[in-house]
Amino acid sequence: MIGYGERIAVGVSGGKDSLTLLSILKKILKKNNCNDIIAITIDEGIEDYRDESIQIVKNHCKKIDIPFNIFSYKDLFGTSMDEAMVKRPSKKISSCSICGTFRRRALDIAAKFVDADVVATAHNLDDHIQTFMMNLFSGDIDRIGWMYPTPIKYDIGLKKVKPFLEIYENEIVFYAFLSEIEFKSEQCPYMNESIRSDFREFFNELEKVHPGIKYNCYNSVNKISKAIQNSYPESSQDLKRTCIKCGNTSNNEICSVCKTIFLLESK
Ligand code: SF4
Repeated sequence: MIGYGERIAVGVSGGKDSLTLLSILKKILKKNNCNDIIAITIDEGIEDYRDESIQIVKNHCKKIDIPFNIFSYKDLFGTSMDEAMVKRPSKKISSCSICGTFRRRALDIAAKFVDADVVATAHNLDDHIQTFMMNLFSGDIDRIGWMYPTPIKYDIGLKKVKPFLEIYENEIVFYAFLSEIEFKSEQCPYMNESIRSDFREFFNELEKVHPGIKYNCYNSVNKISKAIQNSYPESSQDLKRTCIKCGNTSNNEICSVCKTIFLLESK
């Protein structure tokens, strides 16, 4: 997943998962002293929410001696999340779909800026199966095909890895408490627009009655994802396009980031 000498950018939000990932990577990799680790934090521009978590990340990075960089949606895309919520033409375009589109691109830009070879994010097993359900219920089968958990190497030379993907969320919480990692537990004010919380509750209730069911689901998700990937004709798997507006790699003529910016500006 992470090779000798690779420079690792870790996406750190200030929540338990990302701060724990940063701490564990530091602990494991310092023995060899061969990988640089840099924390990158994306500031979505959500008032009274993100400021506190940025301070938590700063303190944590200082404590474990890791360089810290911050990148904002406002600087990168010309709009904060708070502004995007006012500008969006319809509430049918959910906060999290705008935010997720921007975050993926922001992480790529940030990782390139700090000259990283790898970008590591703290998605856990619960996130993975919730995402599957969200894709399933929105009919986005292509996205399920992209979910298979192999490190993804982009043509820009950047590798994306998710080291916590087989770990339950509550195990990460235990580790964070036992290691006395200070983290932000308050939810984002836009969170209730997403169906993710409903799936989180659904899976947690099931797991109480049927321990291990989330892990079974995780394995099934990966098999379904692989089957969808294998169903694509080989020619389409290699097909790479470039967004005609920004020049980034895209599945379509115009990438999702440019489409989102256009939508927000069109109101
Ligand atoms: Fe962004 Fe949604 Fe997460 Fe809030 S809950 S930070 S809007 S993805």
